[in-house]
Amino acid sequence: MSAAPDRMHRPDNELVDLVFNYMRERLQYDPVPLDHPGDGEHLKAQLAGLLNPNGNDPADVLKLYDHELSRAVISADSPRYLSFIPCAPTKAALLFDMVVSCASLQGISWLEAAGAIAAENQVLRLIADRAGLPETAGGTFVSGGSAGNLSALVVARDTARRRLGPEAKLRIAVCDQVHSSVKNTFNIIGVEAFKVPAVDRRFTGEALRAALAADPHPETVIAVVGTAGTTNEGIVDDLQGLSEVTRERGLWFHVDGAYGGAGLFAPSVREGYNGIEHADSFVVDPHKWLFAPFDCAALIYRNPQLARAVHTQDASYLDVLHTEGDEWNPTDYAYHLTRRARGLPLWFSLAVHGTQAYTDAIEAGLTLARESAALIERTDHLELLMEPQLSSVCFRRTGWTREDYYRWSQQLLADQIGFVTPTGWDGETVARFAFLHPGTTMEMVEEILATMV
Ligand SMILES: *Cc1c(COP(=O)(O)O)cnc(C)c1O
Repeated sequence: MSAAPDRMHRPDNELVDLVFNYMRERLQYDPVPLDHPGDGEHLKAQLAGLLNPNGNDPADVLKLYDHELSRAVISADSPRYLSFIPCAPTKAALLFDMVVSCASLQGISWLEAAGAIAAENQVLRLIADRAGLPETAGGTFVSGGSAGNLSALVVARDTARRRLGPEAKLRIAVCDQVHSSVKNTFNIIGVEAFKVPAVDRRFTGEALRAALAADPHPETVIAVVGTAGTTNEGIVDDLQGLSEVTRERGLWFHVDGAYGGAGLFAPSVREGYNGIEHADSFVVDPHKWLFAPFDCAALIYRNPQLARAVHTQDASYLDVLHTEGDEWNPTDYAYHLTRRARGLPLWFSLAVHGTQAYTDAIEAGLTLARESAALIERTDHLELLMEPQLSSVCFRRTGWTREDYYRWSQQLLADQIGFVTPTGWDGETVARFAFLHPGTTMEMVEEILATMV
């Protein structure tokens, strides 16, 4: 007799215990170890033969994951992970991510997932309120800032095309510090960059106005992308000035706050975001500085109808989703159809802890950046490159070459003291901290800086 085809779908308490016990252990690591880079040959050997017709003992597979695979993933949630942009989810958000998985929670259409969508929209509303966007604003959660920037700028493009015709050459104004995903978006959507020189690494309204005045075809510029927290240096563009120009000229104003948007919750820096209330579209990644697990980006439009007109997928089997009325179908506001209800872990954590806990945790990262900057300034062989505006700190070790930084960074990770990768500063290799985890301490920073001798 052949085995039952539903044997994988039946309740299995032993498997539940096995995996839940592992997760319980992982959730209680204190601190989370950094772990290590991977060796391709070794990993390949460990995995050999695993995917076979008959499967394996789950305990063996989990052990392989725990002892080999997970050790070859550097933990973004370690308080010693200070590279790129870390990810430091709250325990509540992590736990609820498991609920989203276990319940196969989707958030495609109101018809199928009203409960999940109502909760996601409550979070989008909270963020929109912090930005000062009108009651009519709304959007959806997408996989990341890249997907958010793409989805928003497609709406900007198509909204302009309706006015200028399908053949019009279109440009979008950016400055050098704009994120690489925006440059990728331009390639994908066939729009050119209108490059405006930065003033002190910042995109300003004055520079934008001057560049448009000097250009023979300013009418081809249809949108402006401001960054609310550049990824490398944490610089917030002159959103106020940019928004004045976009309103004068009727341009789409997109604000990329993938990393820094969380600063809207931090009173000590909130003023720097003034002008964001005029954004036509806005992205913030909760999987960065709003302490949600991967992969979660909030995409919000001032006028969601414009997004719906562009992104709604048209197919006869989807007609049932698009009835009249005020049902909210998240799938209509970005380039996606099927989607996980990925806003729910953040919703649960916000509901459990309250917004003040978020403010406190974000301010902790800002404080770490300020105190680290002061310590760097006090240290003879270190040079601070810029007063931190948000939570990233760029600095130089006097006399070091590119190779010195790379060797130091690798040794730091090998010794499990920190994960700090070098970055570029006007063509020079320098060091950078990105603070975000509220469990990072100044003692850890001191320990790391002490290795730069
Ligand atoms: C991280 C980042 C992005 C890309 O977001 P993903 O979630 O990695 O796709 C875009 N813009 C800025 C400013 C970022 O910091």
